[in-house]
Amino acid sequence: MNDFTNNEMNDITNNEPEMFSRGKVYLLGAGPGDPGLLTCRGRKILENAGVLLYDRLIENALLNYIPEDCELIYAGKKPGEHRLSQQEINSLLAEKALIGKVVVRLKGGDPFLFGRGGEEAKFLKERGVSYEIIPGITSALAVPAYVGIPLTSRGMAASAAIITGHEDPDKPESSHDWEALARGPETLVFLMGVKNLPRISKKLLAEGRSPQTPVALIERGTRPDQRVVFTSLEDAAETAKQQEISPPAIIIMGEVVRLGQELGWTAGGPLQGLRIINTRPRNQARELTALLEQAGAVVREVPAISIVPPEDFSRLDEALKNIKRYSWIVFTSSNGVRGFFQQLRKNNLDIRELAGIRTAAIGNKTARELEKKGILVDFIPDSFVAEDLLQGLTARLKAKGETDSQILLPRTPRARDLLRTGLAELGCQVDEVPAYLTGRTTISEDVIRDIKVGSYDLITFTSSSTVEFFLESLERRELLADMTLAAIGPITARTARQSGLEVDIIAENYNIEGLCQAIIQHYQDGE
Ligand code: SAH
Repeated sequence: MNDFTNNEMNDITNNEPEMFSRGKVYLLGAGPGDPGLLTCRGRKILENAGVLLYDRLIENALLNYIPEDCELIYAGKKPGEHRLSQQEINSLLAEKALIGKVVVRLKGGDPFLFGRGGEEAKFLKERGVSYEIIPGITSALAVPAYVGIPLTSRGMAASAAIITGHEDPDKPESSHDWEALARGPETLVFLMGVKNLPRISKKLLAEGRSPQTPVALIERGTRPDQRVVFTSLEDAAETAKQQEISPPAIIIMGEVVRLGQELGWTAGGPLQGLRIINTRPRNQARELTALLEQAGAVVREVPAISIVPPEDFSRLDEALKNIKRYSWIVFTSSNGVRGFFQQLRKNNLDIRELAGIRTAAIGNKTARELEKKGILVDFIPDSFVAEDLLQGLTARLKAKGETDSQILLPRTPRARDLLRTGLAELGCQVDEVPAYLTGRTTISEDVIRDIKVGSYDLITFTSSSTVEFFLESLERRELLADMTLAAIGPITARTARQSGLEVDIIAENYNIEGLCQAIIQHYQDGE
């Protein structure tokens, strides 16, 4: 981990009153799919995870919350993949806790409802490993709610049963009392019941449930691609087959199902159902993710670049020592601001050194970062590109007859040349000093697998380097061919095109809000 992320982490965790225990296992309920249905405590635990064991039902967007250096263990439950046995999972949990890790076992819905959380807790208890159980919103309650079906309703249903449909009802050792289920609770909710639905419905009919009992089949509930089909007990098996209902799905039987036809609702943001990859660096991704989520999208953060301190600070140190000689400091990104001020502090200096020096910032974000440090910015161009910054600065320097000024440019060595050469041509002496570096990251296997099977609809790029680094890490750019590509501005778009990508959306305001607006506009205009 580098200096920047360390600081960012401190910012977050300073407000954190509790310590997350090392050497403990958190059996954590992830909720039913919609990432917004994770509990607040669940999110805090994910943010502090050292090892994460997760499986198929987990919504990938939840992985945004884990720290970069968290060890990810996929308990693989997709057909054809090696799946860790329950025994292996139990042992891993204990083993990782015993070497002092904050271990998180993330489970779909609630860990104690058909989640084997009890078995895991028992195993840990027997070995003296401490654990905590954090309930999750179970699919048994949330999935019906997302289609407007209350499980109980006055005068209609005063009881509900939640049942595993995994058992073959024809087996003599079936532990369900089918007669009691047929006559007892008004509402029946079956989990894991798709495969056995023909046998389940036959059995219930044989035990006396009415053939007209309303039934709802809900596939991938609370997720962007949720599907609900209404039918009746006698037709349920046939409907499920025709409509190709496949797991994960919930089956609800009872009069309350009728209410779903009245009370059905959709969250309905303009980006509802869209799956988006956000390639911003880890410590800057949150704002874009939040805006897109508010509009209804499901966002996966896949940082294309990481921000690290330069190997050598000597040029910045030199500039700081002689800071009085500069009449302007030009910041082209908030990373530059952070790098500059960290080094100022390391040199035991503070903002008083900057008295009288004017500052320019390329965008609102950069300006806000400076304001946080106590500096009001003298110049922000109307449009957030280097050309406009150069033009505006040139006009100001000329107006004051200061075209031979010394100007400091603390930024990444990878930046475009335009500003430096433009100001130099004017007669200024420009000192460009490294304040941070950008490096490529590794894109994890599961993201690449998801991209391959078309799990994502859109990808966002917020700088030329995010495009370049993402493509370097992806290796095969064809993988992006079927995705809509959104760029924050014309420069980023040009880099993408030069890299052989097609750009579908370019923001008109070159900032995060502008990018989000442009994406919404694109979908409202019907692509
Ligand atoms: N502990 C989980 C249930 C695990 S059993 C919970 O509390 O939700 C797995 C079953 O849960 C699936 O076969 C399916 O029946 C149900 N399920 C989980 N997520 C679901 C979803 N998003 N939509 C529909 N059914 C879901």
